[in-house]
Amino acid sequence: MEHSPWPTVERRPDGTLALEAGAGVTESVVRALARGAAPPPPFTVRALAPLPDVPPGERAITVDQTNHSVIAGETVVVKWFPVPSRAPHPAPALLTHLAGFTRTATPYAVIFWEDALVALVTAYLPGARDGWEWCVDEAVAGRTAFATDIGRLAAELHAAMASPSEAFPDPVRLPPRPAFAARAEGAWREALELTDGDDGEWLARRAGALLAETAPLASAGRTPLIHIHGDLHVGQILQWRDGYAVVDFDGNPTVTEAEVFQPAARDLAQLLTSLDHVGQVAMLRRSADPAATAAWVTAVRGKLGTAYENGLADAGQADLLDRSLVRPFEIEQECRELIYAARHLARWRYAPMGVLRAWFA
Ligand code: ADP
Ligand code: MG
Ligand code: MG
Repeated sequence: MEHSPWPTVERRPDGTLALEAGAGVTESVVRALARGAAPPPPFTVRALAPLPDVPPGERAITVDQTNHSVIAGETVVVKWFPVPSRAPHPAPALLTHLAGFTRTATPYAVIFWEDALVALVTAYLPGARDGWEWCVDEAVAGRTAFATDIGRLAAELHAAMASPSEAFPDPVRLPPRPAFAARAEGAWREALELTDGDDGEWLARRAGALLAETAPLASAGRTPLIHIHGDLHVGQILQWRDGYAVVDFDGNPTVTEAEVFQPAARDLAQLLTSLDHVGQVAMLRRSADPAATAAWVTAVRGKLGTAYENGLADAGQADLLDRSLVRPFEIEQECRELIYAARHLARWRYAPMGVLRAWFA
């Protein structure tokens, strides 16, 4: 009989779920998993790899995050989903597909409550700091060498995504032209609607210029689609004891339709714009010099893009990138940042607005 505490999951009146993992719960769940103890129904566990020995103790991760991650015994991270969704979640299949890709936190197990994903259990990467810390340090110091490493890492990730596995026997798809233009336009309209005040007025005045840069989407040819990361920004890239690793395969929090197969250019565009956001953070929070920061952004964007393309070419996957999509997707991404700010994190608005004001001065 299993007596250790598991999280509570409640069904709210509107049908959504609410999970709470109080103090000590993560530690006890990890111990139960390590022992191979059966979870209390309706929890179920899908094991992906054996858990290591986990010393006692737990501590919550306190950086900005969407979910609630807790480190157990400085060995394992459990990411609890406070609002578990019954819709199929991309991460379990993706983590299985990426079994041979080592530049992420090793996934150990996936926990469900009925059919809803409630937690992902992965290895803790010692000394990990995410890009909203380490990359801002690079910007402030004016260092650019990291951009080559990160471009290579993104290319390796995409090459792994594009390699067949049991989970995805056909990882590269070439469907008739998807509706890229309509999706970008929808994001633009929503961003405009949700952004008020001076920023909103400024955006409305730039409508023509902004939409002109998304024009290539309307005439894009057929392009290969892979299961992209979907939320690839520097905050998902951890610098840790042994280098850089990419985490968080939850997908983009502002995209509701669950089409996870997308052009590689979407991930690249988001990663590149996140460097622009790092520049904004460096200026606002660390008083970095605007001219030096602008030069840094230009340099690291160039290095990252080149390393990414070289990495794809070395993997024999150069065809995955349609360059004509990158800029239009960057514009869409900035709209999504504004949507994210309006819905979840009002104080983030300055970052995409700072970038757009620089692009469309
Ligand atoms: P969310 O969906 O909440 O954004 P993430 O998977 O991105 O969750 O994790 C949130 C944060 O927790 C990361 O930005 C990073 O700082 C930290 N983190 C995540 N996974 C690990 C790990 N395996 N090792 C160390 N720190 C991690
Ligand atoms: Mg994250
Ligand atoms: Mg996430």
